[in-house]
Amino acid sequence: MARAHARHRKSRSPGATREGRAPRRVVVTGGAGFLGSHLCTALVDQGAEVLALDNFVTGSPSNVAHLLHDPGFRLLRCDVTDFVHVPGPVDLVLHFASPASPVDYLRMPVETLKVGSLGTWHALGLAKDKGARFVLASTSEVYGDPQCHPQPESYWGHVNPIGPRGVYDEGKRFGEALTTAYRDHEGVDTGIVRIFNTYGPRMRPHDGRAIPTFIRQALLGEPLTVAGDGAQTRSVCFVDDLVRGVLAFAASGHPGPVNLGNPEELTVLRIAKDVLAAVGSASAIEHIALPVDDPKVRRPDTTLAEELLGWRPRVPWTDGLARTVEWFGQASLEDESATVVGGGAPRTA
Ligand code: NAD
Repeated sequence: MARAHARHRKSRSPGATREGRAPRRVVVTGGAGFLGSHLCTALVDQGAEVLALDNFVTGSPSNVAHLLHDPGFRLLRCDVTDFVHVPGPVDLVLHFASPASPVDYLRMPVETLKVGSLGTWHALGLAKDKGARFVLASTSEVYGDPQCHPQPESYWGHVNPIGPRGVYDEGKRFGEALTTAYRDHEGVDTGIVRIFNTYGPRMRPHDGRAIPTFIRQALLGEPLTVAGDGAQTRSVCFVDDLVRGVLAFAASGHPGPVNLGNPEELTVLRIAKDVLAAVGSASAIEHIALPVDDPKVRRPDTTLAEELLGWRPRVPWTDGLARTVEWFGQASLEDESATVVGGGAPRTA
């Protein structure tokens, strides 16, 4: 499979940078995670040389198994909160390392703050050292439980710094401030993307996010656990659309922040019902308590992405859901340990 993949690599570059220079060598932190692995695949497909750095706390080498024998790809086990050293030139650093699901960051609060702060600092240092463009994977969580709907990039957010989600939200907000400081004071060509909920193949069945949880429960014939009455909304973007947006943004040279997400708003209850239909499951829906500080609404204003990048999501929800359900149908749904999927590095203190 890896060889076939290598054979089909296109010579086209993943897109010119602002100066028209193609990013030949790309470092992807968190490259063995859900989004990171799809980014690595797209970049290798487009002819880039990719180095993925990952400590496997929530990702797994199995996510990039199809790339491991490709001459354009290398995976290095590395905790980016430690020193990051990469020999040779680097054109682009995509900083995607961070636990991303509430289950993960509540289990690893200090690690999450460290990767949002120290990890971002080290990844920025790498970009500065190499004269590379840097893109921070920020999040719609910087808007917190928003008082403004939909959320444009100009909205400052409504975040509880000492609530349980603060470790993730504030880590990302600090990362944005640090990225901006490196742009303004250290001369680094930085960019910030604020990613809204994204779904697709390679999400972990036990990562706690609504779509993989519902699909796992539906496939196993268990009740689908909907938080509250399910009237809260989410906007969900299929991973292929998101990857296309991130690479277009990386090539644009724009500082951002730019929202990337699907503006189609769905209630959590509707997502659960659509999963039941897509799986063909007769599972019941069970209502459980709402998590603390759970956002009631979430929808990106994607005007800037459309104007700047000509980007908008193309994959309809029902198609993306069908592709995700198909992938989960072939994945292992077994209970995972409380720590790591696919084995992993010891957690930092
Ligand atoms: P993920 O958990 O699947 O991937 C994160 C990866 O980072 C994993 O492979 C993990 O092992 C790695 N990692 C974590 N800490 C690390 C460290 N200290 N050193 C090296 N590697 C480390 O999550 P994802 O959904 O792919 O999210 C990727 C990025 O995108 C994250 O920064 C997340 O905050 C951001 N994001 C994702 C979404 C989404 O819907 N998936 C939404 C908003 C933002």
